[in-house]
Amino acid sequence: MGSGGSKKNLEPEDKWRERRPSVHELTNPPPQSIELVLCGICNRSFARDRIERHMDVCAKTKKNDRQEFDMKEKRLIGTEAANYKDVEYTSSSTKKDWKKTHDEIIKNIRAAKKDRPATAMPKEPELVIG
Ligand SMILES: [Zn+2]
Repeated sequence: MGSGGSKKNLEPEDKWRERRPSVHELTNPPPQSIELVLCGICNRSFARDRIERHMDVCAKTKKNDRQEFDMKEKRLIGTEAANYKDVEYTSSSTKKDWKKTHDEIIKNIRAAKKDRPATAMPKEPELVIG
């Protein structure tokens, strides 16, 4: 009736197939080391065998960033806006600062008006006839 035995021959072949590395794995191997190294430029951590490549790119990106930032700073130097160049990054605090400054100006004007000497008051023009 039965004539088994041939089924066993398939097993080694299946195992061999499983262990064969895929093409993707060969062209894009996973990191050799899982040890993370901190990038001194952007403070992000990368696998030890990737950090060198990353820093090369990261340095270039940082350079471009700096050039743009310097240009902006140079334009601000000597202007009133230079005082607020750090504020403009957070819009909420900018609004707050603006409101604060506005209120302070109003307060100062009111105080100045109160303390103004009588001689500074606007005089009514005298009409001299004759
Ligand atoms: Zn980096």
